[in-house]
Amino acid sequence: MQKVHIKKDDKVVVTTGKSRGAEGRVLKVMPTAGRAIVEGVNFMKKHTRPNPQKQVQGGILEKEAPIRLDNLMVICPECNKPSRTGRKRLEDGTGVRFCKSCNATLS
Ligand SMILES: [Zn+2]
Repeated sequence: MQKVHIKKDDKVVVTTGKSRGAEGRVLKVMPTAGRAIVEGVNFMKKHTRPNPQKQVQGGILEKEAPIRLDNLMVICPECNKPSRTGRKRLEDGTGVRFCKSCNATLS
């Protein structure tokens, strides 16, 4: 499994692809797929068929599609810039992420 540098509730920016430059909050990280869902970014139209038994109306549903983690960068809450993150170990042994621009510790 690849190392994941992004966590739920992070603010991220998309660095490549058609949603490039879009910012949003991470709703879900899927480490095994190497993807994440970002709120309001990369909408995909999903066609649904009406199913009266399930009270589903047919039509087009817009839903966020997962984005590759490689294409996302964390926006550091301290310096407010898309930042590369590193990992460091605190004195008590817990690993934390930090911003390589301003050195702030990220949760
Ligand atoms: Zn920073």
